[in-house]
Amino acid sequence: MTNTPALPDVNREWHLLSRPVGWPKPEDFALVEAPMPTPGEGQVLVRNLYVSVDPYMRGRMSDAKSYVAPFELGKVMQGGAVGEVVASNAEGISAGDHVLHFFGWREYAAVDAENAVKVDPQAAPLSTYLGVLGMPGLTAYAGLLRTAAFKEGDVVFVSGAAGAVGSQVGQTAKLKGASRVIGSAGSDAKVKLLVEEYGFDAAFNYKDGPVSEQLRAAAPDGIDVYFDNVGGDHLEAAIGSLNQGGRIAICGMISRYNDTEPAPGPRNLVRLLQTRSRMEGFLVSDHEDLQPQFVREVGPWVASGALKYRETVVEGIENNLEAFLGILRGDNTGKMIVKL
Ligand code: NAP
Repeated sequence: MTNTPALPDVNREWHLLSRPVGWPKPEDFALVEAPMPTPGEGQVLVRNLYVSVDPYMRGRMSDAKSYVAPFELGKVMQGGAVGEVVASNAEGISAGDHVLHFFGWREYAAVDAENAVKVDPQAAPLSTYLGVLGMPGLTAYAGLLRTAAFKEGDVVFVSGAAGAVGSQVGQTAKLKGASRVIGSAGSDAKVKLLVEEYGFDAAFNYKDGPVSEQLRAAAPDGIDVYFDNVGGDHLEAAIGSLNQGGRIAICGMISRYNDTEPAPGPRNLVRLLQTRSRMEGFLVSDHEDLQPQFVREVGPWVASGALKYRETVVEGIENNLEAFLGILRGDNTGKMIVKL
């Protein structure tokens, strides 16, 4: 053990008590006082500083078949986090180092060194390793460039455009030569941000009227790429506006995550046939090989301000659940982060 600072006796952590049906309710969760973890051989003890809440966590609260195991009932939930190592029993990581790991929803975590990635607070603010330079950033990069096979001159439409992934998709498309970028979001303030700060060519508030009509007005010559974060009427509208050889990257369908019944699919899938278009889902975890290229290309854009980002920061472990519920309500602009 390289360092043993005075630590609290208890570790506060969020447990899932019951599987939410529809919108998650506070009673489905509990903030629990657990014993302080002791790092074993090859482990580090991390004091979490920034904890991520992400839409995919809604899926892990359910036990429906998916690509990742459900959270266990009565146990602490998981998610991305960045923290400071306060004690180390592992080679290569020392007290005082900062690490990215997967044991969020709690104040302290004992983490196997192989599951902790050192991050440099001098190179970028620590919270960005959960956002613009982290998992959502790579999602935007891989989904746009690989799954949607973006090419210069494309007209790109992205939903959830003021969120962590969406804001990065739109700006990346602009930086890489899109002829037109259109975004949709759920408030007028977000729409203004997209156009005035992020350089989108057009944006609309999907709550103002039918998405298909608003999209047709914003993209009179159709779209080549749709990056879907939302599903539902957005997906149907995008299919309806596809040009020949269109490409749809299915990243997420947040409008459906609290559904209790399967929703009807888009009614206009025949457009895929008529336009020789392709629609493909992807998971960021399938594209980890792009990580070095992503950091090389996007890191300098972020450092220079060519690619802008926002974070919505909620303070305190006691507000971790509210922060999560906030992303389902659209409270966030850019990445939702919990600061401990
Ligand atoms: P985010 O966009 O930062 O936050 C979620 C946003 O979704 C909210 O701010 C809200 O913004 C919007 N939203 C909520 N309910 C909505 C509804 N009914 N209709 C339309 N918009 C709604 O979250 P993120 O982390 O960047 O994730 C964006 C999407 O990517 C999610 O679908 C997520 O599941 C997906 N994702 C997929 C992968 C992957 O590997 N495939 C990885 C990361 C994320 P408004 O105010 O605009 O409504």
